[in-house]
Amino acid sequence: MKKVEAIVLRTVDYGESNKILTLLSDTQGKIGAMARGAKKPQSQLSSVSQPFAYGTYMIAIGEGRGMGTIIQAELNESFRAIREDLFKAAYASYVVELADRFVEEREPSQGVFLLVLTLLSHLEDGKDPEIVVRLCEMKMLDLAGIRPELYHCAHCFQPVEQALRFSIMHGGPLCGNCHSSDERAIWIKPVTLKLLRTFQAMDVRRLGEVNVGDDVRRQLGKVLKHYIDEYSGVTFKSRAFLEQLHKYDL
Ligand SMILES: [Zn+2]
Repeated sequence: MKKVEAIVLRTVDYGESNKILTLLSDTQGKIGAMARGAKKPQSQLSSVSQPFAYGTYMIAIGEGRGMGTIIQAELNESFRAIREDLFKAAYASYVVELADRFVEEREPSQGVFLLVLTLLSHLEDGKDPEIVVRLCEMKMLDLAGIRPELYHCAHCFQPVEQALRFSIMHGGPLCGNCHSSDERAIWIKPVTLKLLRTFQAMDVRRLGEVNVGDDVRRQLGKVLKHYIDEYSGVTFKSRAFLEQLHKYDL
């Protein structure tokens, strides 16, 4: 039996009344767990089996891999404002999917757990959702040990103050001498690199108002998205939905 604090990353209906949850826990990494009866609204497990729910779970589970069974659970935070808002839910889905892809089953990952919990709180509180997911991407790279080097040219390794281009191939910004060393490098504004550095260094709990123009938002998204695709080796379902939302300007 294990007692963990956890966030619901995913749920799948199982049979008439059960759900199988994928939980991101504070001490045990990802855990698959059966929530018996959770589909029934009057069930005690109903509220703790919703996507994004954060709770304390008692789980009957062995030491190895394999699924556990939830014996008892208590809801700490439902993140209701997220679940009831299509926009917030789309961004939150991407946050939990990032966590899902970056964390292994039963591999301790308290850093990711705290990151996701903090970012869901920001979305719940109405913080700028696009900035929240960019921050998530940057911090996830950090926790996965594949953070981009942002203070040196990725081609000649000289220190860079400002850069005009970011090379995915070389894995960082390019200095003035090297900025044509990768013809596919992404053009960026000085403030874009500055923000990437800020995201990398900042304590996520301290996220305040960020005033960022549309072109810089696009550049941040492009750099982080392509960097993750290149270096993390994972692909994302929820991202396509986010891109659709933007396309139709919903
Ligand atoms: Zn250089």
